[in-house]
Amino acid sequence: MRSQFTAEPSSNDMADRDFTVGEVPAVVRAPATDADREPVFDVIIAGCGPTGAMLAAELRLHDVRVLVVEKETEPKSFVRIVGLHIRSLELMAMRGLLERVLPHGRRRPAGGFFAAIDKPAPKGLDSAHAYLLGIPQPVIERLLEEHATELGAQVRRGCAVTGFEQDDEGVTVELADGERLRTRYLVGCDGARSTVRKLLGVGFPGEPSRTETLMGEMEVGVPQEEITAKVTEINETHKPFWLRPFGGGVHSVVVPAVGVVDRAEPPTLEDFKHALRAIAGTDFGVHSARWLSRFGDATRLAERYRAGRVLLAGDAAHIHPPIGGQGLNLGVQDAVNLGWKLAAQIRDWAPGTLLDTYQAERRPVAEDVLDNTRAQRELLSAEPGPQAVRRLLSELMDFDVVNRHLIEKITAIGIRYDFGDGPDLLGRRLRDIDVKQGRLYDLLHRGRGLLLDRTERLTAGGWSDRVDYLADPTAALDVPCVLLRPDGHVAWIGDDQQDLDAHLSRWFGTPAG
Ligand SMILES: Cc1cc2nc3c(=O)[nH]c(=O)nc-3n(C[C@H](O)[C@H](O)[C@H](O)COP(=O)(O)OP(=O)(O)OC[C@H]3O[C@@H](n4cnc5c(N)ncnc54)[C@H](O)[C@@H]3O)c2cc1C
Repeated sequence: MRSQFTAEPSSNDMADRDFTVGEVPAVVRAPATDADREPVFDVIIAGCGPTGAMLAAELRLHDVRVLVVEKETEPKSFVRIVGLHIRSLELMAMRGLLERVLPHGRRRPAGGFFAAIDKPAPKGLDSAHAYLLGIPQPVIERLLEEHATELGAQVRRGCAVTGFEQDDEGVTVELADGERLRTRYLVGCDGARSTVRKLLGVGFPGEPSRTETLMGEMEVGVPQEEITAKVTEINETHKPFWLRPFGGGVHSVVVPAVGVVDRAEPPTLEDFKHALRAIAGTDFGVHSARWLSRFGDATRLAERYRAGRVLLAGDAAHIHPPIGGQGLNLGVQDAVNLGWKLAAQIRDWAPGTLLDTYQAERRPVAEDVLDNTRAQRELLSAEPGPQAVRRLLSELMDFDVVNRHLIEKITAIGIRYDFGDGPDLLGRRLRDIDVKQGRLYDLLHRGRGLLLDRTERLTAGGWSDRVDYLADPTAALDVPCVLLRPDGHVAWIGDDQQDLDAHLSRWFGTPAG
């Protein structure tokens, strides 16, 4: 049992202070002489949260030299139980991680997450992994970090990125201890208060926190029946509140904060007592806290995801209230979108605009998540107007098409990137279908492209060092052939070799030899 108190700084109230939109500063602290130094790393990632760890692993699949710099000495110990939604579970399967992750979580039905409206998921969701996995965030972070280090990523803990300078050849990154490291690219996966984003001068407009919520684990001094009766009564008011047994004599507490003066200050047990008394008229005799934390409900989106050789991903690029449980999922999915593109850039085969498709594809996805959390927040309000809209939406969700649309949104399986005109499947991810070797996603573990050919007469030709080929007339596909990108999205559909070659060039650059 943990004996140390940890307090997470308000993760979602962000630097409500400095979001001025600025030009990229040409020089951020390091001296010009560093520009002559040969990069030691291809990519330095600031932050070893879920986004940074996943990105490191994705880059290592392509032998990219990666260093992850994490400011905390120890992994986080506060326990958010997060949900891995369908697309993230699919990504775990695509990288051979699903079997590793599943034993640590609890499978739950995929439905009921949109504004907590209690509707079962529609039948026949288009996925072989159509459930939610509840899993403690520290566990998923540990598993992803282990995966990254097993693949050869270096992780250096206990040092923060404090400055950088970029030039035509690379980036000089300055650490808190004064060390300067040379890299070809820097990615800020350093969370909501991202130092990298701020130093880059990238604007982070949106709405500041309106509410603050306390979250922690502690012991209680009253019988469970008394707690259950109070909790049931308060839950009818739709306020964000729970007090639940967590095992080992400990209760998990979530309660609206009262009278927050300084959001950067960690909460105390006294703050929890005060907040509990305000909502329940009693503090339930709470004592012996294991950890205490707080979060806000700010909504913000970075104005751009890339400035030269510096990129942003995960909470560093977007924040929103945790309603619907999408933030971690979004960050991990950013990482899978970015990883192969950045690797291609470093391996020197990336077509000119490939790296920019990261922002073009992922920023609209984040925009949509921000919007759906805004909508969900309204639907969770206890006011009569929003409650009426909630009842109406609840009725509408009895129509399969509405329910399916909302679930596909929250679980991210409804995403369709804009790859131009074409059949509906173009730009979407392909589900984990049966192929003659077993499962499709088992063929994607190495993070390469895949040509899945039912005609048996096409070829990946000069791209075979980047794209695998599978001839399988029995594949469960209703089109002749698909070209999959390393992130599992459909980049081409057809049966014509010349057209295929043009699309191989578009996504995978010039053929070898
Ligand atoms: C109560 C709550 C419940 C949630 N539930 C869910 C859920 O069910 N599902 C879901 O998908 N999401 C959920 N989220 C959101 C999720 O926790 C975040 O979206 C996720 O942690 C973002 O991951 P990240 O790696 O981008 O950033 P972070 O997890 O914030 O990681 C950033 C890392 O960077 C490090 N760092 C910071 N500055 C520096 C620096 N200068 N140099 C080096 N390192 C640095 C930090 O120490 C940290 O380890 C929830 C959030 C909250 C608050």
